[in-house]
This record gives sequence, C-alpha cells and structure tokens, in this order.
Amino acid sequence: MENERQDSVVRAITDDGSFRVVALRTTDTVRSIVAAQRVKGDEARWLGELVTGTILVRETMAPDLRVQGVLQSAIGRDSLIADSHPDGGARALVQRTRGGSLVLGDGAVLQVTRTLPRGSAHKGVVRVTSGGVSASLMAYLQESEQVASAIAVCTVMDGDEVVAAGGYLVQLLPELGEGQLAVMTARLEDFPPMETLLRDDATTPATLLAELLYLMPYAVVGTGAVRYQCRCDSQRLRATLGTLPPQELESLIAEGKDLEIECDYCHVEYRFPVAELRSLLAVD
Ligand SMILES: [Zn+2]
Repeated sequence: MENERQDSVVRAITDDGSFRVVALRTTDTVRSIVAAQRVKGDEARWLGELVTGTILVRETMAPDLRVQGVLQSAIGRDSLIADSHPDGGARALVQRTRGGSLVLGDGAVLQVTRTLPRGSAHKGVVRVTSGGVSASLMAYLQESEQVASAIAVCTVMDGDEVVAAGGYLVQLLPELGEGQLAVMTARLEDFPPMETLLRDDATTPATLLAELLYLMPYAVVGTGAVRYQCRCDSQRLRATLGTLPPQELESLIAEGKDLEIECDYCHVEYRFPVAELRSLLAVD
C-alpha cells in the first residue's frame, strides 16, 4: 500500500494472450518537469501527456532502451521533447525558436526515437491528429511499429497547476480472438475519461489495470518506479569542455571569468573557475 501514492508503472498480460496493458501514474514526475521547464496552460498539459506517453511507449516496446518523444509545431519548428530512460527516470525540454507559446496546429508532427544498443536509433514520425497526444501516439504505434493499441494519456490541470497525470495503453496481441476484441472494444467505449479517473484519489495503476481487464485473468509481468530525473552531471560537462579546441578554451580563459553553464532540462547551473579551464588545457 505504501507505494500507491507514488509515480509508478505496471505491465500485465492476459492469460489468453489477447492483451498487454500498461498503466502508470506520472503526477509527481510531470509536476516537477512542468516546474523545471516553467511552462503553463496547454503547453504544460501537452508536455505532461507527451512525457506520460513516451514512458508508455518505452514500457510497451522497449523497456530496456531509452525512448524520446518529440512534438514539433509546424510554425517555427518549436518542440516539446520528452526523454524516458530504462531506470524509470524521465525529463523534458521545451525548445522555442521564437517568442510565444507553441501551437500544435496543422502540420505539427510527433516523432518517437528509440536508442538501440551501440547508439543507433529507430525513428518514426507521424502527423499530430486532432485527437491530440493520445491519438497521435496510437497512430505512431500503428504506422511505425505495426502495433494496434488504445492509448489514453492525460494531464489534469487546475489553472496552471498540475493536479494529476497518468495513462494507460492496451495493446492487441497476435493471439487475440474476435470475442475478446468485441469485449475490449465495448469496454473502452464505456471507459470513463482519463481526466475523471485521475481526479479520483482512489485511482492507481493497479486499479486501472483491474478495471481495464475486469473478468479477464491476467498476470502482472513488470512493475517499476517512474520519477523526474535529469541526466546532467559536472563530470560529463567537464569531459565535454575538455574536447573543445585549445584556442576556444584559451579565449574563455582570456575572458578571466568563471564559465557558467546551465542545463536546459533541469536549469541547474554548473560553474567552472578559470583555474579549472586552465587545467583542462594542460591535459591536452
Ligand atoms: Zn540537468
């Protein structure tokens, strides 16, 4: 019981091999991400849904790989970027190429990238549909992964405040029979909207699973933590600085000021004193 109020993800498969279901709570993760990226209104809602959806896709298609989801506007190529890692850590980034809020109108696209071992990537791109993030993710899975699914992701907002976030994914598996499909189709048609479910404090990933798979025997095949976690660290930044051409380091040193670098994801600021920059030059 102690974990029920924490962000988490649960994966299950029905005993008859008809469905895989993934359900998750992302409330605290989305709240932290929205605060770190200082986004409001629709941008906050979309960013939360993209983060939740990207975690869902990773848990369904590639639990052991890093998955990134990008929503890109048609105008100005502004982007919302969600970054989900196998250890349960997730972070996000809003990239604006011009002032003002991001607009997900005609021509906006959703891009999903899986980073494969050895650094190569599997990438799929679909148009953002009028059904929003959930429908666009379903289109991505259908078109790019040949996976039939039903997805609902939601960020519940109260003004600019994140009240709750989460979602579920029902994947149709190859052994699915017509009867089971009819049962699930009817169930999803009658299923309460995700916003209604998330506003209820009693909703957890486990209760979502139980309701989606009511009267269908199933086994939980995986559970995991979900949390906000940036990947930046001073060690890696230092290593990156060490790869700069010597003349660039020299000109930084000549300025005589500490070098300040802010992480775009979490806005933590790293400071490199001139002496440290000199030591990097010495190593070369
Ligand atoms: Zn960071």
